[in-house]
Amino acid sequence: MTKRGRCLCGKIGWEYDGEVAWACYCHCDDCRRNCAAPVVAWLGVPAKNFRWLGEAPNMLESSKGVRRYFCRTCGSPMGFEADHYPGGMHLYAASLEDPTEFEPTFHVNYQSKLPWLQMNDDLPKYEGTLLHAPGELGIYESE
Ligand SMILES: [Zn+2]
Ligand SMILES: [Zn+2]
Repeated sequence: MTKRGRCLCGKIGWEYDGEVAWACYCHCDDCRRNCAAPVVAWLGVPAKNFRWLGEAPNMLESSKGVRRYFCRTCGSPMGFEADHYPGGMHLYAASLEDPTEFEPTFHVNYQSKLPWLQMNDDLPKYEGTLLHAPGELGIYESE
């Protein structure tokens, strides 16, 4: 199965085949500022299953080894890659063509959640990033 997403103006899109590796909310300050949103919903896919569509995105190296992609025309954040998550592309769930299909399963950086943001789910809430979450989160299958 292939799913697609796009930026606000539609000049840049993306698609991936298969299943997401994980789907979560991130409450960290970097994600919030990058999206100017109180919380950011992410999905991770193996980079080998991912393709950009339309124009190539611009890229900002927001810290060493961290690459944030965005649309130069409308400014929408479009993707995230990091050397510490090799083989993975992280995408914004709200960019999906049908964002209602997103099924988040956990929170990360929950210690940074804004006090006025109310979320009433029963999902696991981790402090720190994917790297610090228990289990295999953030690890992409290699072939
Ligand atoms: Zn755009
Ligand atoms: Zn974050």
